[in-house]
Amino acid sequence: MRGRLALWLRAQIDLGGFETNADIWTFVLNAVLVATALATATYLMFAAILANFGLLPYPFGTALGFGGSTTILIAASVTALLAWLIGTAVHELSLSRAAFERLSRLDPLSGLLNRRAFSEMVETKVNGFLVLFDIDRFKLVNDRHGHAVGDSVIVAVAEELKRVFEPAHLVSRFGGEEFAVLISSDDRGDCSLLVEEARRSVGARRIQTGGRPVAVTLSVGIADHGAARAFEATFEAADRALYLAKSFGRDRTIHEDESDELLAPSRRVAAGGGRRRA
Ligand code: GH3
Ligand code: MG
Ligand code: MG
Repeated sequence: MRGRLALWLRAQIDLGGFETNADIWTFVLNAVLVATALATATYLMFAAILANFGLLPYPFGTALGFGGSTTILIAASVTALLAWLIGTAVHELSLSRAAFERLSRLDPLSGLLNRRAFSEMVETKVNGFLVLFDIDRFKLVNDRHGHAVGDSVIVAVAEELKRVFEPAHLVSRFGGEEFAVLISSDDRGDCSLLVEEARRSVGARRIQTGGRPVAVTLSVGIADHGAARAFEATFEAADRALYLAKSFGRDRTIHEDESDELLAPSRRVAAGGGRRRA
């Protein structure tokens, strides 16, 4: 019984059966109708049996009129109260679960999508570019100005990325001081324009610290995203390009197509190997 109740509750929450007040009142009305019909039928059946054996202490007509209406009144009011309490509780549960789900997909500091939500949503996009942004020498910001200023820098970068890319494209804080954007366009020119606009506006922003304002730059790696390519493979390609952007001086953008050229044998030693990340 408890298992069934739990299943029913889960189904109601999953299907959004108690999302609005109208849903609660529909549930109350249905419960009242069913309970009243069952209670009245049961009462009438017992009254008829007792009358048949001459055990009814008052005439059958009185039993039908007074007893029937009393049964309806009691069954309807008790059921309405219980159904309303249950409906309200399920409604509250649905609301808190929806809020919890929304929060579990957002990064609390920047308000951007987190890595899990971003990775899930990327799977639904057919074509585009995966762009990884990494703040240059961010550890120095923390070391020089403190963690709170570091946090303000992350928030400021997130604001610039949102301003440039949202709502047309997906923007996330992928972890630490790294951001991932999925540009939903197959035009590489558009992609470059947007990415350079984001890099330029982050570079131009002065973040207030209480002391001297802080400025940061971004290194960027880009890879082509397509339905035929697993997200992990796209991510690794963008990450390799980002690594090259770091290796070749930071504050720049590299597309995966440029990697081979940049990693020509004479330069491979300078750049080192690719970095490994989860
Ligand atoms: P690079 O140019 O090679 O990317 O150097 P970097 O210093 O930016 O990179 P590194 O990986 O050495 O350091 C990243 C730092 O980011 C280390 C970590 O303490 C800091 N960090 C990660 N998450 C947060 C955060 O939420 N807030 C703050 N303030 N710092 C963070
Ligand atoms: Mg990093
Ligand atoms: Mg960094």
